[in-house]
Amino acid sequence: MYDKYSMVADDFINDEEIKATLKYAEENKHNEKLIREIIEEAKLLKGLDHRKASVLLHCDIPELNAEIFALAGKIKKDFYGDRIVMFAPLYLSNYCVNGCVYCPYHAKNKHIARKKLSQEEIVREVTALQDMGHKRLAIETGEDPLNCPIEYVLESIRTIYSIKHKNGAIRRVNVNIAATTVENYRKLKEAGIGTYILFQETYHKESYLKLHPTGPKHDYNYHTEAMDRAMEGGIDDVGCGVLFGLELYRYEFAGLLMHAEHLEAVHGVGPHTISVPRVKHADDIDPDSFDNGIDDETFLKIIACIRVAVPYTGMIISTRENKSVREKALRYGISQISGGSKTSVGGYVEPEDEDENSAQFDVSDNRPLDEVVKWLMELGYVPSFCTACYREGRTGDRFMALCKSGQIQNCCLPNALMTLKEYLMDYASPETREIGDKLISQQLMEIPNEKTRSIAARHLAEIEGGERDFRF
Ligand code: SF4
Ligand code: SF4
Repeated sequence: MYDKYSMVADDFINDEEIKATLKYAEENKHNEKLIREIIEEAKLLKGLDHRKASVLLHCDIPELNAEIFALAGKIKKDFYGDRIVMFAPLYLSNYCVNGCVYCPYHAKNKHIARKKLSQEEIVREVTALQDMGHKRLAIETGEDPLNCPIEYVLESIRTIYSIKHKNGAIRRVNVNIAATTVENYRKLKEAGIGTYILFQETYHKESYLKLHPTGPKHDYNYHTEAMDRAMEGGIDDVGCGVLFGLELYRYEFAGLLMHAEHLEAVHGVGPHTISVPRVKHADDIDPDSFDNGIDDETFLKIIACIRVAVPYTGMIISTRENKSVREKALRYGISQISGGSKTSVGGYVEPEDEDENSAQFDVSDNRPLDEVVKWLMELGYVPSFCTACYREGRTGDRFMALCKSGQIQNCCLPNALMTLKEYLMDYASPETREIGDKLISQQLMEIPNEKTRSIAARHLAEIEGGERDFRF
């Protein structure tokens, strides 16, 4: 039976409840009165439950769909202003004992190049990432207790945080590794990770079991209950996501929101971020072999409806998506994007040729970080390399309380401008720097609090003079 307070996956992601939700949403997809009521409720910025949000996702009335997109855009603007947080993935190892049918790292793939970075190689990769200007990484590994034990991940995190090259530093390491034990989550917390990210892939249990035929990941409940163990281990920022294309997107959407509701109900804080990857081409993976692929328009509608349903949750899009889709997705809800990414192991130092491909997926947006930063600024956004909250201990419910009170706004913009200034000084091309300096002067005036504005202006001048790492 559906119970968001239960600790059992089948109860908080309840198949019957999802099917009843989809039926209800289908029956009401032309119900103008109800849809209008839900839109009005969403305007209160308290979020929507999975049933109401599903009605919006199903909505088949063009004028109301336009209103949903407009509201998503407004919520995005009200909460996140023009800021877009930047990050890069860092693949440490692609050894994997699992059999996920949509990922080229699956154990049966014998021709993909298997690699695992040594600590010396990590130093070189991270130095290259610092030289691009990145401050926030998401580390990625396959699941392999022998080749990639938790001790290796912990040692790698220590290495990453220790590298100080020129003015560079990685200030936040988010971790995307397989579901693990409370004890291991505790160790990750102690190692100072930012967000623990784990994609559910699909919330549809029957499909999940077929898509994960072998390996520890086959255990649906262990995987689905991972965020609870992470929170029990002290990690209070967790990042959820599904791989769109594996199952029916409406089912996944309801499941994703039910997961968020469960985390909020049990731990008092929902997911810190939600990612929206779609199945893409990779080594031996053909996205067309999955029946549930979604077109760009549907993809954007999903993003808009997630934005409206969980206004305080950051939303992430990767370089799986091309420039044009990323541009539209930013408008309706995405608050964090990767740039200059390599999805192969060791790819930042040594680009791979076709014969030696270790990438998890083909990158659709191949532009270097400088170009992505310039593009964002030309679109009117402020690329932010901020990592302040995690370093100030503003995580979990503390972070959410600040978000909900609106107080966070006094930190985000000045932090974005100061970290962008660091980027412009240390890494940007002259053209990007010129655009950026103008943007910073304009945006400085948008900081509402006069005292904060004058402190930020002083720090910006100090950064110009060579000092680094200020934060609110
Ligand atoms: S998705 Fe993760 S667990 Fe599955 S094969 Fe790929 S790396 Fe391994
Ligand atoms: S101040 Fe906090 S919420 Fe705002 S951008 Fe920085 S880390 Fe994110």
